[in-house]
Amino acid sequence: MCEQHAVARAAGHVLWTDGRFLVIHHPEPSPLAGWLRLDAVEHVGGVADLADDDAARFGVLHARIASCMKQALGVDRVYAIAFGESARHLHMHLVPRRVDRDDLAAWALADGYRACMRDPSLAAGAEQVQHARERFRTMLAASL
Ligand SMILES: [Zn+2]
Repeated sequence: MCEQHAVARAAGHVLWTDGRFLVIHHPEPSPLAGWLRLDAVEHVGGVADLADDDAARFGVLHARIASCMKQALGVDRVYAIAFGESARHLHMHLVPRRVDRDDLAAWALADGYRACMRDPSLAAGAEQVQHARERFRTMLAASL
């Protein structure tokens, strides 16, 4: 994650940060446009490792980002996933639940995700992802 953050910073892909947390779009290939991540900037393993003030902040950010996603993407739910397996660095996936994508609903999301990583032609288009980045950069600046 620390490396991914350096790459995201260099590419101008950090959508929002307060120095403690940052928001990025899921790196490409991304199964959906508007799939965001809320990450700790510091190398902490998970929410259990956060001090109370950071844990409280994380909760508020989660709620506000999900609210922005509902509004911007027209979804009525936003999934939150934080396995901590690919990297032991707190990163929470915030996934829009699109009504037209039952293939990415509930636990089927895991299969759809793996399929997209195997075959990037299943991913959201680069233009859509860039549009989502621009939209959320503006929206999060006003909301967080
Ligand atoms: Zn790290």
